[in-house]
Formats: sequence, structure tokens, C-alpha cells
Amino acid sequence: MKKTKNLTPFYAVVFSIFIVFAIASIMVFFHYNQKEIENNAQQVVKDDVDSAAFHTNSIFELQYDFLQGVADYLGDSTDTITADLLPLIENISNSNSLNLIALIGADGNAYYSDGPESNVGDREYFQASFAGEYALSTPIVSRASGKTRIILSVPIRHEGTVIGVLGGSYDIDSLAELLFDFSSGETGHYILSTRDGTVICTVPSSSSDEAEEESEAGTDSADSKIFTLSANDSLFDIYNHLVTVRSTTYIDEETGKKTSFSATAWKDDYENGRSNLVTFNLTTESYYFCYKVLGDADDASSVLNNWMLCYIVSVDDAHEDYSTFTAYQTRLFQVLAAGLLVMLLVILIATFRKQKSLVHFAETDLLTGINNKKTTEEYIKLWLADEACFGTQAFLMVDIDHFKGVNDAYGHAVGDIVLSKIGQGLKNIFRESDIIGRLGGDEFGIFMKNASPEIAVEKAEQISQMVCSIRVDAHPELLPTVSIGVALFPQHAKNFMDLYKKADSALYIAKNNGRDQYVLYDIRTME
Ligand code: GH3
Ligand code: MG
Repeated sequence: MKKTKNLTPFYAVVFSIFIVFAIASIMVFFHYNQKEIENNAQQVVKDDVDSAAFHTNSIFELQYDFLQGVADYLGDSTDTITADLLPLIENISNSNSLNLIALIGADGNAYYSDGPESNVGDREYFQASFAGEYALSTPIVSRASGKTRIILSVPIRHEGTVIGVLGGSYDIDSLAELLFDFSSGETGHYILSTRDGTVICTVPSSSSDEAEEESEAGTDSADSKIFTLSANDSLFDIYNHLVTVRSTTYIDEETGKKTSFSATAWKDDYENGRSNLVTFNLTTESYYFCYKVLGDADDASSVLNNWMLCYIVSVDDAHEDYSTFTAYQTRLFQVLAAGLLVMLLVILIATFRKQKSLVHFAETDLLTGINNKKTTEEYIKLWLADEACFGTQAFLMVDIDHFKGVNDAYGHAVGDIVLSKIGQGLKNIFRESDIIGRLGGDEFGIFMKNASPEIAVEKAEQISQMVCSIRVDAHPELLPTVSIGVALFPQHAKNFMDLYKKADSALYIAKNNGRDQYVLYDIRTME
């Protein structure tokens, strides 16, 4: 009995360990899967930015090649840049995507293909190209047209000496359209960042939609797809966050470790032409910020090195392609969790049943199927202490007459059959709530809850009749009888032990009086 009770905590511990282990395994599995998704998504972002940078570089290279070709032609034709040369380049603007071509003399005077003259001697791009380099200006407001433009410039050489500069300009809308045309279907946003912090980017798609609606309504939608970010733009908030906030989560590409990302680190990458992908968190969402320096990173003189192509995409959007997989993963987790729960439930029910049968086994007399002596006594004592116990309680003690003789004459097995049949018969006579037990050998005890003396006596009669009717097939001549002693609580006894003794005394009288009868304890004669 003791051993049986201890099984429950043992199983509970084993199952708990199993469940914890199973859940931990699932979590580890999901963690690594999530990591894999993250790595793949980041790789896709990096590849996209590589392609976009390649695309951008190609466009710039083409433009520089074109400008240099024209510059070489001019340099071969003259040794001084004057407005007189304009007719030579007049048709060039029309044949190229550059919006405006300018001839700039050594004094900084710029002659435009279709605009008024101005002096750009103080512009950085002019100075760089006059020093012999390819140059790319930050977005500047043209003195000639008043439009915001980017200027690409190359030196014009005559016999190896720089005599002027040839500039080609894009207004910012045309440039961004040219560069970001491919990205219209993308969820993230490309940004061209110049060294001074000016950025050019695509408008977030919601704004584009509005612009298109406006366009349909017939309002002016020119330049609506492209703009230079201002402090009111949400993307600028992100961008600005990176530039101004001292540190945020930063995953170093080389070590894979999370370190502190600072604008300084980004600027350092910028200066040194390094590409990277960082993850940063804004209040509600996480973003991947991938950047790649344009031009040839190994060539410090490459003019595009002071521009950087950046791509910002929310982590959720970047993981979108894996959402089906994630959904399956979640479903798998649910199924596994349900399976584990069902398994746990089945095991618990099985254990509970087993436990119950073991308890039953320990409480029951195996031969007769009724309570054994110990259980009978325990139940009776419990009942006597119960609030529901009121009025008369009857205790009947039943003993088979000359049972030793039955065993001797017919054998122990036949005796067992008689015992078993009496046990079964008693169950049929009494209520389920009454307590029926085998007290030992050929002796039975029945405790009748909330009974009356009359009913107790009536039941004693029924027991006698039931036993008399018992037949053993092979021995029809065997006619068992019993003697019964009946005592009442509280009339005859104040506790169970006393009640037991009084019933036993009555039984003793029944035996003495010739057996096959019942005797109700009598306080006057048997005390
Ligand atoms: P009495 O009328 O005075 O009760 O006489 P009796 O022979 O029945 O005497 P008693 O009740 O003292 O004897 C009980 C006998 O019951 C003794 C034993 O042989 C028999 N007995 C006890 N347990 C078992 C059992 O499990 N199976 C069988 N077949 N006999 C049992
Ligand atoms: Mg007997």
C-alpha cells in the first residue's frame, strides 16, 4: 500500500522532466530555425543591396564614360573653354539622360547648353575635376535654373593639361527615378546618402499611392515619386536615428556578435568603404539597415566613394517570404503541444486507474470480493465519526456453522466456494452504502448505516435464508447454515470496539443455543 502511494510523485517527476525536455527541444529547434530564417533574410537583403549598388555604379560609370568621351573630343578641338564651343555639345543633352550639360572654363565660368551663364568656381565638384578627378556633387540648387541637381563632372584636357571641366547634371527626380526604378515592387526603401547627410530616396509606397491618386485627379504630381528627405519624413526619423543616436543594437557582420552600434561606427564604415547590415530597433518595430559604399571600395580616388547606397526594410517585411514556413512551424508546435498534453492525460488516467485497482486490491478480500477486516473496521470507524451518522446503527456478525467440518468432509476448495457464495449473497442483501466485510476465517461482519432494530433483525433472517439456499453443484447434500449476532449502536455500545464485542457475545449465544439462528444482543441478560 505504501509503495503504491509513492508511485504518483515518482511518475509526476518523470513526466515533468520529460515534458520540460520535450518543450526545451522544441524551443531549441524553433530558435535555430528562426536564426536560419534571419540569416537567409539578411543574406537576401545584402544581395539586393549588392545588385542595387551594381546597378547604380553601372549608371554612373556609363555617364562618366559618356562625359569623358565628350570632354576628350572638346580637349582635342581647343585649348580654351569659351561659350563658342556650346554648339559642339548642343545636341548631346538630347541624346543622353543627363538633364543639362555645362562647359566650365578655367575661371569657373559655366556655359550651359540651354541656360544662362554662371560662375561655379567655388563649387567643390569644379575644383575636384579641375584638379583632374571625376567628381560627383552633393544635391545643390542650380544657380542657373534654381532646381536641385546632382552634377557629375570630368576634366577637359588639352595635351595633358586640364583646361576646363565638363559637367552633366541630373535634376534630383530624374536621377532617383533612374536609380530606383527597379525598386518599385520592393517593401523596403533605398536611400542614396551623400557624405554631408543629404539623402535621396524613394517615397514610401503609401505616399506614392496618394501621389498617383492626385495625379489621376489632375493635380500636379511632378516630382512626387522622389524627394530629398526632410525632418518631417518618417524615413528620415529612421535615418536620423542612426546618425544621431549614440548607440543601438548592432550586429557586427564579421563576428556576428551584437555590439553597440553607433553613428561613429557607421561613419567609420562610410569613410573606409565598408559594407554592413545592422539590425536596429525603433519603438515598435525592428529594421534591417544595409549599406554599401558606391564606387570601387579598393580605390580611394573613386569618386563614388563619398556616396553610399542604403536600404531600410522592416524585419517583418524581410521575413515575409518565410511567413508560410513560420505558420507551419507554429502549427507543428501546436500539434506537438496537443500531442504531449494528450499523452500526459492518457498516462495520468492510466496511472490513476492502476492506482485505483491497487488500492482496491489492498482493501478487498480476494476470495469473497468484499472488504477485508482492516478496511471494514476503518470504514465503520469513519462512519461513526461522520456527521451523517444518526439514530440506530446495526452490526451483524455472521459465522458459518461447523465450517471446519465442511472443509474436512468436502475439501478446502469446496469450503472456499461456500465462503465466496456467502460473500456474494451478502452483497445482494444489503444496500451499497452498508459496510460488508470478511472479518477472518468463516466470519463476516455487516454494518448497517442508519438502520432500525427491526430492519437489522429482518436482514439477519434474510442472511440465514440466503445461506440455507446455497448449493455446491457436486455436493447437493451440503446445506450450510450460519449463526448471527446482532448489536446496536448506540443502544448497546458507545464505540466500535464495544459494538464488535457485543455482536460477538450475541453470536456466541446463537452458537450455544444450537446454531442456525440469530440473536439480538440483550443488555439485561448478556451484560
Ligand atoms: P462453529 O460452528 O463453532 O463456528 O464451528 P467451526 O467449525 O466453523 O469453527 P470455527 O468457526 O472456529 O472454524 C473456522 C474454520 O474455517 C477453520 C478453518 O478451517 C476454516 N477456514 C478459515 N479460513 C478459511 C478459508 O479461507 N477457506 C476455507 N475453506 N476454510 C477456512
Ligand atoms: Mg464457524
